[in-house]
Amino acid sequence: MSGETRELVDNMIKDLKKHKVLDKNCNEINTENIKEMHERHEKEIEELQERCKHPRHMISSWLQDYWAPGHMSDFQVKICRKCGKEVNRMMWCQECGKRMTSYMWKSIIGGMSYCKKCAKKVERRNEIEQRKYEKSKK
Ligand SMILES: [Zn+2]
Ligand SMILES: [Zn+2]
Repeated sequence: MSGETRELVDNMIKDLKKHKVLDKNCNEINTENIKEMHERHEKEIEELQERCKHPRHMISSWLQDYWAPGHMSDFQVKICRKCGKEVNRMMWCQECGKRMTSYMWKSIIGGMSYCKKCAKKVERRNEIEQRKYEKSKK
């Protein structure tokens, strides 16, 4: 192990001890329990969401979705406040700006959402671009 790697590993072990994943003698403490707890919670939430009838008065208005804290995604969602499940999603067609709910948008190309009509158009355009690109390489 190089000195740098050694230091990295030492820091990692220090960190694990600090967070009580490892004890003084580097034996694992209860890591499995934490994992199990997460899994149990996930399962409980899943079951709650499956059981939930998402009563209308518990459905939120349109909320901005974030794919990470502080990072807005380009769609809005309605959430059941009882079970936390996303019950509807609204996006905007990246081509014509039409609003679409979960039940309308079908086509996502390269992570972008399009209405069905525009999706065809964009697909065709991408094909032409691709062909042009391949020609230019020759
Ligand atoms: Zn619900
Ligand atoms: Zn469109």
